[in-house]
Amino acid sequence: MIEKILSELLVKVLENKGKTRDFLLKQFEKKLYSAFVENNPNNRPKAVQEYKYYILRSLVLSALRSIDKGIFSREVLKRTVSTLAKGAFIKPKESKMAEKFFKEKYGVEPPAFITISPTMVCNLHCIGCYAASHANARNTLPYSTVKRVIQETHDYWGSRFTVISGGEPTMYKSEGKTILDLYADFPDMFFLMYTNSTLIDKDKARRMAELGNVTPAISVEGFEEETDARRGKGVYKKIMRAFENLRNAGVPFGISVTATTKNAELLIGEKFYDFYFDEQGASYMWIFQYMPIGRGIDTKLMPTPEQRYKMLHRWDTCMKKGGRFVADFWNSGIVSDGCIAYGRPGGYLYIDWNGNIMPCVFVPYYVDNIKRLYAQGKTINDALFSEFFKRGREWQHRYGYKYGATPENWFMPCSIRDHYENFKKHIAKEVKPEDENAEAALQDPEYYKAMVEYDEKLSRLTEKLWKEKIIEKSNQ
Ligand code: SF4
Repeated sequence: MIEKILSELLVKVLENKGKTRDFLLKQFEKKLYSAFVENNPNNRPKAVQEYKYYILRSLVLSALRSIDKGIFSREVLKRTVSTLAKGAFIKPKESKMAEKFFKEKYGVEPPAFITISPTMVCNLHCIGCYAASHANARNTLPYSTVKRVIQETHDYWGSRFTVISGGEPTMYKSEGKTILDLYADFPDMFFLMYTNSTLIDKDKARRMAELGNVTPAISVEGFEEETDARRGKGVYKKIMRAFENLRNAGVPFGISVTATTKNAELLIGEKFYDFYFDEQGASYMWIFQYMPIGRGIDTKLMPTPEQRYKMLHRWDTCMKKGGRFVADFWNSGIVSDGCIAYGRPGGYLYIDWNGNIMPCVFVPYYVDNIKRLYAQGKTINDALFSEFFKRGREWQHRYGYKYGATPENWFMPCSIRDHYENFKKHIAKEVKPEDENAEAALQDPEYYKAMVEYDEKLSRLTEKLWKEKIIEKSNQ
């Protein structure tokens, strides 16, 4: 019920202007706070719930700023709100029924979404790409397979949200279809597409506006110097053109940045956020701290524990004081009740261009393959109950996902990055690596040492903060 009230109020907030909107916004904030913090349905620590309140509030404030600047056109807004209201925010009856059937059949709630990379092909060759993508890659999933997977998440899980990654999704072609055709095939779902944006011309931006159910998250590394150094000369200028095309078409977009030791200071400062949010009109920002997988693995590129700690404070300020929607993986793990991988209830799983089914984009190991499952007459649901996925979920449960339990340190939420020793010894058993880089990482004693040392240092830095700021504060 509260979900419905909140969603309806949100639609009114987005559709109104001036004093009426200010009044509605206050009402919305009050109800949001009450739903998350006062009612606290799953009995989480109060401070955890406050973080959830702030991140949702910042999403709404960011959207309102884009509307006020005319970046998010009212026409596109109408279509987007109707898709979101029909699906991603207010769950339709069919979606709730699907969740109920799933729970009755399997005894647990379904995941909320998938991330799928339909193609490995990419027109760029970025240093340290997690996907090791390139222009000559041939690995691409057939359109009919991608469509079937999404249909299954829609029908069996009640999902109305999908993340598309790559490779470069705008280069995807299969069975005469492109990635935009996929969005058109699922008008009641919302898509977040990670893209380098260099192929988003006026036509593509206009088509996205017509569809109204997709938002591109565009990769940058900092400003021009940092972006071109990693992505190639001239890429930054193309990104600026893509921003312009999207602004003119009225399509909301965000940015995505890989944090490394090299650009971490930029992300700790303020200028970066002012530029992309205020000057360029981004509505949201994802920060992915460099995970040493993929092309040219280098553990020294991970932001140091000290940098990560400072980034945590910046994220906090951005969201609470600036009202800017920033999600920093892994500092923001607190808002998702920790790690969301392994097809956790309300979480996700990842499928790559070969059809391999992985717990997460950053966990390059698998047991099942979607093409093989389909050939055996099975569905996506069968992948959820592999021993590998079950071990991952058991760890998440023990680490704090269990309702009512006092969580362990969710400033270190990641099952692989932040708990490598446990991951290697207890989770990654009898798994297949996605590629030779993932295989090498698992066998390399130096890699193991660097990851474990990092975890120990990070734990020393964040443990006290977690206990004082989250657990003790919640008990006061
Ligand atoms: S494995 Fe790590 S990166 Fe993946 S969902 Fe869990 S916390 Fe996030």
